[in-house]
Amino acid sequence: MSTATQPGFLTLLELPAPETLTATQLGGAHCVWCATELHGDTAVDLEPRHDHIKGVPGRWCPRGCRRCTLKPLLALVQVHPGICEQCTDDASLCETRRALRTLARELRR
Ligand SMILES: [Zn+2]
Ligand SMILES: [Zn+2]
Repeated sequence: MSTATQPGFLTLLELPAPETLTATQLGGAHCVWCATELHGDTAVDLEPRHDHIKGVPGRWCPRGCRRCTLKPLLALVQVHPGICEQCTDDASLCETRRALRTLARELRR
């Protein structure tokens, strides 16, 4: 399994603590940030996470609305080069950087 081309970059996105979320937010039906009800075209899939929720290890599937996702995504675009070995080496070869930028561009539309 290659790491560079995996879409796992979204797991780097900072989310609210799962303990603070409702069941519908944990299941991805509502935005993890603003609790807006999500529909296919407005939802951004933030990739499943594994966390201890109220002491119980569990898998949750956060999704966010486009508006809420854009802000932490842009923050990640900013900090990424500082935490990425590939970007230090040659940023033009970094799949994560490319994926982050592509998504940010899509969300801005
Ligand atoms: Zn939202
Ligand atoms: Zn990078």
